[in-house]
Amino acid sequence: MIPCPICGSESSVTETRRVTGGQARRRRICDNHECRAKFTTVEIHADLVKVPRFQDATLEKILKLAQRALKQDKEGTRDE
Ligand SMILES: [Zn+2]
Repeated sequence: MIPCPICGSESSVTETRRVTGGQARRRRICDNHECRAKFTTVEIHADLVKVPRFQDATLEKILKLAQRALKQDKEGTRDE
């Protein structure tokens, strides 16, 4: 279930479109009758983005991996 980005309520899929590269775009509408926000989500295969053990990874873990990669990148390009 993808929550509404505005109010956090549940949302329903109104349209699914397959795109090249194994992606799926879904048009969604918020189930909250006072909100009814429309938004789009893109679904991709975890192995395409090469995140190890993606299903176990929390957002915190992913951020740490990204920060470590950035740090290594900076250290690698330093002129010392
Ligand atoms: Zn909403």
